[in-house]
Amino acid sequence: MTQQASISGLILAGGRGTRMGQVDKGLQPFRGKTMVAHVLERLAPQVASVAINANQNLDTYAALGVPVWPDDLAGFAGPLAGMETGMRRCETEFLLTAPCDSPFLPPDLAERLLAALCGQDADLAFAMTQEPGQRPQPHPVFCLVKASLLPILSDYLQEGGRRMDGWYRDLKAVEVRFEDADAFRNINTLDELHSLDTTRAPRLADVTSCLSGYDPDALPVKDAQRIIREFVQPVQAVEQVALRSALGRVLARDIVSPINVPAHDNSAMDGYALRGADLPSDGQARFNVIGTVYAGKPMGLVPAQGECVRIMTGGVMPDGCDSVIPQEFVAEESDTAIVIAAGVLKPGDNRRFAGEDLKAGSAALAAGKVIRPADLGLVASLGIAEVPVRRRLRVAFFSTGDELRSIGQALDEGSVYDSNRYTIYGMLQRLGCDIIDMGIVRDDPAALEEALRSACENADAIITSGGVSVGAADYTKQIMARLGDVTFWKIGMRPGRPLAFGRIASNGHSAFLFGLPGNPVAVMVSFYFFAREALLRMMGADAPLPLLRARSVGAIRKKPGRTEYQRGILAQGEDGVPQVRITGSQGSGILRSMSEANCMVVLHDGQGNVSAGDMVDVLMFEGLV
Ligand code: AMP
Ligand code: MG
Repeated sequence: MTQQASISGLILAGGRGTRMGQVDKGLQPFRGKTMVAHVLERLAPQVASVAINANQNLDTYAALGVPVWPDDLAGFAGPLAGMETGMRRCETEFLLTAPCDSPFLPPDLAERLLAALCGQDADLAFAMTQEPGQRPQPHPVFCLVKASLLPILSDYLQEGGRRMDGWYRDLKAVEVRFEDADAFRNINTLDELHSLDTTRAPRLADVTSCLSGYDPDALPVKDAQRIIREFVQPVQAVEQVALRSALGRVLARDIVSPINVPAHDNSAMDGYALRGADLPSDGQARFNVIGTVYAGKPMGLVPAQGECVRIMTGGVMPDGCDSVIPQEFVAEESDTAIVIAAGVLKPGDNRRFAGEDLKAGSAALAAGKVIRPADLGLVASLGIAEVPVRRRLRVAFFSTGDELRSIGQALDEGSVYDSNRYTIYGMLQRLGCDIIDMGIVRDDPAALEEALRSACENADAIITSGGVSVGAADYTKQIMARLGDVTFWKIGMRPGRPLAFGRIASNGHSAFLFGLPGNPVAVMVSFYFFAREALLRMMGADAPLPLLRARSVGAIRKKPGRTEYQRGILAQGEDGVPQVRITGSQGSGILRSMSEANCMVVLHDGQGNVSAGDMVDVLMFEGLV
């Protein structure tokens, strides 16, 4: 049995929240989600399943998609009551508990507690930390326990025992020392929560501590993406803009429909409206035409049995009618009567219901949506003239390198024209950012610091290219690091291994920093696979990469253990299945093959060589916004 399969996780959220002023602690917002959601996210990968022990707001907890169990014991009897409930329902050998207010719990909690418990043949294991010069600090609610000990715990509770460290006095308990005391920090008061949430923006270390085996020098693509995703934060400001100006912007709040769309039941066809009950079950039936209804001109006609109304598409259904026979299905037709054969129409056919498109009071568009043409139409159909959107994201960018020349300058020996500023311009423009092009910055410490500070003071995000690889002049990295919380990664990918990421500050302003590599293809790949989603998140949108599957026309060599991105051309195969072939040279400096390509083939970490005919993931360039 794998380690994970033997452990069920239980988040203890059953307290009264006394120190938080009677609020439900687990449901307090913290960095964009509830505290319990942070705990769930960290605990779930470590165990076979997770449940929550809660005694209030059960539905809200259940909305997280895991079972919610209130205490079996009445009266908010404390964490042991939650543990008893969990042990009673536990279907695995072990139960692991963690409190709902520990959003930083360590990624190796289950693994280390289990190793200690099994290694020392103990009944339970719990965490402890010890900071230099301080006494050991036990954390008994971070506890792995054999579920079979339930009777002992129940006896203890029956006798009125409530203390966490009381019930296992006669059992074999081991303490397991963890280095990172912060990981066990629980957040007890609302003040503590607010100060953590607002005055201290998350540090990269908070986010990276979430990953087990984090190694900045060999970071898998998906881990880098996850760290970036969790670290960046959306701009808060909202502006109200005229509908047309909202195209491409990010909706800041849900749009709730003030009306039913359509407002009335109406006809989906040009034909005759009638009562479905009057349709013949065999042979034919004759209906007298009592008038005509045009779209937008309800007539107040009410057909009696055997009568019908001529109706145009969109015309309001006359009272009592529930079906429309299209003109072409009518057997005989004159101005005053029609004949319908049995079986050509079912009751209810060709009738559109009021509110079928949208019901009054329902959300027509959700906050976070990037507004497309269809959305403009939808909002217009509600009669809404202005919409709330997030303010545009300001992104500053520059290129670094003494060898770079701008268009218009002479290309002296050894120099190259700066192309990255143009590809980055294009990609940012398509995302809908406000862009600040800061030109080329020399490989010179003072110039670099000046540029980074100025970018930071004027933009929400900064994108640089060049200077972050191993061979590059060291001060680029030094200066970035000096100005803030920046990490330098070697990512398990090709092209685009080096990446600097973090947040820098200058004169009270801060900005997220993406230090992309210098090679022209690497810069685009890093932008698409790291910066793009992060910038969209900062814009308030949630837009994961839209990967498609396609058949590889040829074989592709690929080393397992890193992600490889190859430039490809996607087309329709003869059998209609999309197929992709790799374009020309894949060198990381060769922009021509990028320009010829219409997609990138994504060969994930675990994957080895691809044979002709295998299916691969593909990311189309068009529609990449
Ligand atoms: P670096 O990461 O600074 O060592 O740059 C790696 C390679 O990319 C070098 O060959 C640079 O000349 C090239 N490069 C860097 N920046 C640019 C740019 N803005 N435009 C074109 N090539 C660049
Ligand atoms: Mg350089």
